[in-house]
Amino acid sequence: MSVSRSSWRASRRRLLSMCAGSAAGLAAGRLPVRAASPARQDAAPANATLFQNVLIFDGMRPERSAPSNVLVRDGLIDTISEEPVDAPAGARVIEGNGATLMPGMIDAHWHTMLAEIPVAELFSADIGYVDLIAGRGATRTLMQGFTSVRDMAGPSFGLKRAIDEGVLPGPRIFPSGAIISQTSGHGDFRKRMEVPGHTPSYGERINAGVIADGPDEVLRATREQLMLGASQIKLATSGGIISDHDPIDVVEFSLPEIAAAVGAAADWGTYVAVHAFTPRAVQRSLEAGVRCIDHGQLMDDATARMIAEKDAWLSLQPFIDDPSLRNPEEPNPEKSAIVSQVTDTAYALAKKYGLKVAWGTDILFSPAAAAKHGAHVAVMSRWYTPAEVLIMVTSMNADLLALSGPRNPYPGVLGRVEEGAYADLLLVDGNPLENLELFTTPETSLLVIMKDGIVHKG
Ligand SMILES: [Zn+2]
Repeated sequence: MSVSRSSWRASRRRLLSMCAGSAAGLAAGRLPVRAASPARQDAAPANATLFQNVLIFDGMRPERSAPSNVLVRDGLIDTISEEPVDAPAGARVIEGNGATLMPGMIDAHWHTMLAEIPVAELFSADIGYVDLIAGRGATRTLMQGFTSVRDMAGPSFGLKRAIDEGVLPGPRIFPSGAIISQTSGHGDFRKRMEVPGHTPSYGERINAGVIADGPDEVLRATREQLMLGASQIKLATSGGIISDHDPIDVVEFSLPEIAAAVGAAADWGTYVAVHAFTPRAVQRSLEAGVRCIDHGQLMDDATARMIAEKDAWLSLQPFIDDPSLRNPEEPNPEKSAIVSQVTDTAYALAKKYGLKVAWGTDILFSPAAAAKHGAHVAVMSRWYTPAEVLIMVTSMNADLLALSGPRNPYPGVLGRVEEGAYADLLLVDGNPLENLELFTTPETSLLVIMKDGIVHKG
């Protein structure tokens, strides 16, 4: 089984590498490229790229290597050596001139389908329009250096498939599918005049969010998202910022409801992550077996200790009241202010208890905000050294992605520059271990962007 899977992957990569950068290939789609240019395929050299004279930040150690050479072949990092490495016939050779080679960045709390579309459009526009805006956004995400995202709500399955097939460039997507929410919860985007009664809203019909009440409905909703290809399940267990009906302080879902989702996810070998801000919501989620708390800004000392005791993840976002990061399209700024006031405390508690902290942004509804993706990396220097930030954004976030176990759609090694890992790589003009601001100017700072061994820039 694994042999056929890997040979399938190898042939897929050859095909994708031929599509990359070819307008005809992109327009023609996947299979027509094979049919239209058999000679090219037969004559194609090894799908290889050699980086020469680069200083490697490997995603794990807080330092750069001595000048090194890195050979990428068939989508994987094949060889890393300080000695000269021979380029296979036909390989692309990139002279690094001492630039930094590092893993592609990972956003652990991203919304592929929601990042760039205004909220009013999301819940009213044709789904085709929503998809195309999201597709453009996915390419922009990749071109800012983010090669993988954990998608924490939204109907991203189709776009994920298109990216994987090479229809358009974008990051690897670990999809949650719809956010599962109780009636009146963070994922209930119905209008007041639609209540009482429950006719599925447009948001439910496009699978952006599912409303479920009682363990049986939560079970069904969880199993539906798993059926569609969710790599993990997303529940809302506290009030949220962008939702109009639930104050931040409310707790959502009962213990048996959360436990129903946890059990169904565990039966598929994966886990539940929850949107939760407050101590009560976080603690109830942990009691039910949730493995990842997304947000958690309002947690107290006892809650942080419980996250540590349960060995759960804290996927924390650097929400602060910084004019350079402010999202002009964010609904309910008064709720946002409640959270941004306590983000410093949350990072302090995370450090105090040595929590497994993931980095993510949760950018929503604004092309202008999404264009500043890298600024959310740079702002992390408020709490951590650049090396700590970059380890979090690469190998630690990759460890969280791997929590999907058998539901991981990309089961190789991510977030690390090591032999055998996926070749998701950035060549950075400068030393990001001294200057995180480099990621605020990806157009000039990122010399090469590679995903799955394919050069998308450089
Ligand atoms: Zn979110």
